[in-house]
Amino acid sequence: MGPPGAGKGTQAGPVKKAYKMAHISTGDILRENVRSCTELGAAAKRYMDAGSLVPDSLIIEMMESRLNEEDASEGFMLDGFPRTVAQATALDELLEKMGSRIDAAILIEVDDDVVIRRLTSRRVCSACGAIYNAIAHKTKVDGVCDNCSGPVIQRDDDAESVIRHRLSVYHDETAPLMDYYEKAGKLRRVDGLGPVDGVLSCLVSMKN
Ligand code: AMP
Repeated sequence: MGPPGAGKGTQAGPVKKAYKMAHISTGDILRENVRSCTELGAAAKRYMDAGSLVPDSLIIEMMESRLNEEDASEGFMLDGFPRTVAQATALDELLEKMGSRIDAAILIEVDDDVVIRRLTSRRVCSACGAIYNAIAHKTKVDGVCDNCSGPVIQRDDDAESVIRHRLSVYHDETAPLMDYYEKAGKLRRVDGLGPVDGVLSCLVSMKN
């Protein structure tokens, strides 16, 4: 968990490698649906473009089918889900039916002004999803992904006005989840302000 731009996607790559668990990002699944013009993608697009949340019913149905895929049976890391208390409750019910549970909810904490600075300069590869930064982590060739040579772009929802809206959605709808997981004794907090490697060591030492 954490505001947009906290570093959830950036940290997920190495954590997934270290623990060989499925990385399930609702944002990535939705963007893939938009790209391949599915019914879900068509329904979700206008919410995503506006920086608003896609309705819970669509997200919960999508996650029910994703969590039943083979690669999730040995453990998984959720990224960008749940984002509302209704999603968290539905997730707990779903996992109980599957004989599973969430071990921990990790909150990466970052202030709003840092989020705005980071996201307005964030760039992503539209082919492989690699994340860059126009100031701090540029591609070797302008606009071309170092990993796969795909096109590196700015996400439409990383425009400043959309970021401000996403932050207010986060504070109103997602921040109450901290209470939900704190009461369940599952909340772990990590300072997301340091360098990527420092945040990663905190995450990794939590697991041990
Ligand atoms: P992200 O890549 O996690 O920042 O997600 C991008 C966009 O996808 C969000 O701004 C929402 O419009 C939508 N989205 C992703 N995850 C969820 C979720 N759990 N609930 C509702 N909308 C979501």
